[in-house]
Amino acid sequence: MKPRFEIVAECPQTRARAGILHTAHGPIETPVFMPVGTQATVKGLTPKQLGEELGARIVLANTYHLWLRPGEETIRACGGLHQFMRWPRGLLTDSGGYQIYSLAGLRRVREEGVDFKSHLDGSHRFLSPELAVDIQRSLAGDIMMVLDDCTPYPAGEAEARKSMELTLRWASRSFAHWRAADPNPDTMLFAIVQGSMHSGLRRECARRLVDLDAPGYAVGGLSVGEPRPLSYEMAAACEEVLPRRKPRYAMGVGMPHEIGEYVALGIDMMDCVLPTRNARNGCLFTGEGKVMIKNAAHARSSIPPDPDCGCYCCRNFTRSYLRHLFLSREMLYSTLATLHNLWHYLDRMRRIREAIVAGRLPEYLLAIAASVAGGR
Ligand SMILES: [Zn+2]
Repeated sequence: MKPRFEIVAECPQTRARAGILHTAHGPIETPVFMPVGTQATVKGLTPKQLGEELGARIVLANTYHLWLRPGEETIRACGGLHQFMRWPRGLLTDSGGYQIYSLAGLRRVREEGVDFKSHLDGSHRFLSPELAVDIQRSLAGDIMMVLDDCTPYPAGEAEARKSMELTLRWASRSFAHWRAADPNPDTMLFAIVQGSMHSGLRRECARRLVDLDAPGYAVGGLSVGEPRPLSYEMAAACEEVLPRRKPRYAMGVGMPHEIGEYVALGIDMMDCVLPTRNARNGCLFTGEGKVMIKNAAHARSSIPPDPDCGCYCCRNFTRSYLRHLFLSREMLYSTLATLHNLWHYLDRMRRIREAIVAGRLPEYLLAIAASVAGGR
């Protein structure tokens, strides 16, 4: 099935829209938050919980990790990533570029690609734009990402331009390779806008990527330490230029109260490790702010993590019990906390989408901002 993006409603007051991304593994209603399944698993959850309990339609897997272990050939021999991890719905694979960027001192970027040392055994590895496409084709997710050069923050304009120009050349190579390898694909390859925190560079990068006629576009290089107003400004600069009819993905964002802001800027897709990682570390997101479950105040608390939440965890368990599981380092803690935090994100995104369709997104965003402020 040929993938396509359909816009079903547009907010008259903001740049937000509600859409459906049709993929070979089912429709994905947008805006969408994508749980992160780094090692072909969302830590602590079964695919059944992810799909049936949480209603997730798409998850993200990390190419860097799966390439190093178990290797893309193993996954291909097992029938591709969907079959390997028994996840029947949408899958997005990143290019591995961001993980390699995070290796800092262990990598060297050159025109052909990037040399780095594996964090597992220190062995030398080389990743090129073409190889990133080939590895992702072996993994066989629904959406693939081009290899980009993520610019460290802060970066002056000259440094940011140099990095952006490399990202543009790599994007051209990625698309040429992908189109030659698969002239009639049932998967999508997304281009990534870079340009650090310079809005002029962001607009220029977006404009030049539009020439590639990519099935979708991502805003990369956000959440690298910059103040949040700057992240929004960069997303807005990219949005001005990117075609309205294509899906836009803000990579690696954000906090629960930020996802609505990105949607209002015209972003359709987001992913972030925060809900899952924070859950495991004892931080639960609620409608009234964060709950740190290890606090003594919860020792005999008979209320659920979030009394207004409809998730399995909140319908059945108390803060007292969760605190006990957390302090006892019980595995069930991570499962319940992850279920709750992901529900919080996915449910919030579902309500945001409903608000767009009903034509009342600005009012909805104001209401949730007031409720979080009131709970602090
Ligand atoms: Zn809950």
